[in-house]
Amino acid sequence: MIMLPSEFLARMEALLGKEYGAFLAALDRPLQKGLRLGPKGQDLDLTAGFGLTPVPWAENGYTYDPDTRPGKHPYHEAGAYYLQEPSAMAPAAMLGAKPGERVLDLCAAPGGKSTQLAASMEGRGLLVCNEVSPKRARILSRNIERMGISNALVLNMHPRDLARRFSGFFDRVLVDAPCSGEGMFRKEEAAVTDWSPETVDMCAGRQLEILRSAASMLRLGGTLCYSTCTFAPEEDEGVMARFLAECPDFSPVEADVPWFDHAKPEWAEPFDSRVSAGFRLWPHKLSGEGHFLMLLGREGDTEPADLPAVKGGPVPAALSEFLRDLDIALPAGELISFGQALYLVPTGTPVLDGLKVLRPGLELGELKKGRFEPAHALALWLRTCARTADFPADSREIADYLRGQVLPGDGIGWTLITVDGLSLGWAKASAGQLKNHYPKGLRWT
Ligand code: SAM
Repeated sequence: MIMLPSEFLARMEALLGKEYGAFLAALDRPLQKGLRLGPKGQDLDLTAGFGLTPVPWAENGYTYDPDTRPGKHPYHEAGAYYLQEPSAMAPAAMLGAKPGERVLDLCAAPGGKSTQLAASMEGRGLLVCNEVSPKRARILSRNIERMGISNALVLNMHPRDLARRFSGFFDRVLVDAPCSGEGMFRKEEAAVTDWSPETVDMCAGRQLEILRSAASMLRLGGTLCYSTCTFAPEEDEGVMARFLAECPDFSPVEADVPWFDHAKPEWAEPFDSRVSAGFRLWPHKLSGEGHFLMLLGREGDTEPADLPAVKGGPVPAALSEFLRDLDIALPAGELISFGQALYLVPTGTPVLDGLKVLRPGLELGELKKGRFEPAHALALWLRTCARTADFPADSREIADYLRGQVLPGDGIGWTLITVDGLSLGWAKASAGQLKNHYPKGLRWT
């Protein structure tokens, strides 16, 4: 049994009454592991191989048999799926982002919910993934790349500073807030050791501040989702009641979700009966960790605010030649140089000057001595192209490729390496060999 803080246990016993025994027993059971198939993985049949069982509240979400270790599989490197525990799939599923919308994930790292929102958007519209911690923002950026997403920006901003730039800009905003993490007690030991009643109060105050920024960035008529992975009512219901009291133009969005319990407004100060529209996900009632979520609508109905958009330049001849040679059609977007690299910025992206940007869209590659060298991100976004070399997931060639070794192969020029048809990275063919261009930092050891 994990050693849980006595104040936490006393509070949960008082709140849960008869259910407390079942709750405690659930915390002592092993973590429920899950994965969500991304658009690239949806045609694979992984059910038997990974022991998949559908998660009822999330499209393409599954629990898996942990002995099968899907995180150590070439399909993972190809972005076929994202490892995400089942309850964590609920907020983005319920926010309901649609193709063509402007969507903000304000507290986005490591990227589980961003990559899920991207899947709902089917590559159309603008997804802004923001993370305040520089280190975590880099992990987020790598996950956006791995999942082959073309219409996302990755920013590293404080919500307050972002709010100054994006007033009324987004159709939907997700605030998956930093919280006291009680729902993760059986997942991360640090969640237990970092916990204290003071942490709960500090998190509640911080969440309210983040929500104020989030609210100002939502257009009239837009939808906000607030979520946490804690049971603490001072956060969850308490924060929602305080937010509703401060922001009269917001009201709860009702939803009928049979797997989740309604929130408990009577557990928090101030009491606001409308907070019962929120949901609690209990580890003793479903296969997943503890979560809270609530959807809020902003009154009114306006088009999102217009901001001056990025205007790109012409396609350099070397890039045109590369695209023609491999028969690649790029999605809509503006071509810009960012550092050494060329990026395709999603159409309608506001001018990014003054923002800390890690990824301004789809990284295409670099011009080197007049030649174009494609980026890993471009490989992962592609479904196919005119020159590919395909190998089965369990082949020696794929293991060698992921370790950075040269493969045997025909042809000449840039070649897309695919694993069972899923793009994995680049190689350059010449003289009967495929020279390895899998990024050094990602290679298997
Ligand atoms: N949504 C992410 C996912 O699905 O992978 C998980 C987000 S995690 C629950 C909360 C994030 O909020 C952390 O990455 C943390 O660094 C960030 N955070 C911490 N303090 C913050 C603040 N003051 N404003 C915004 N985000 C903050």
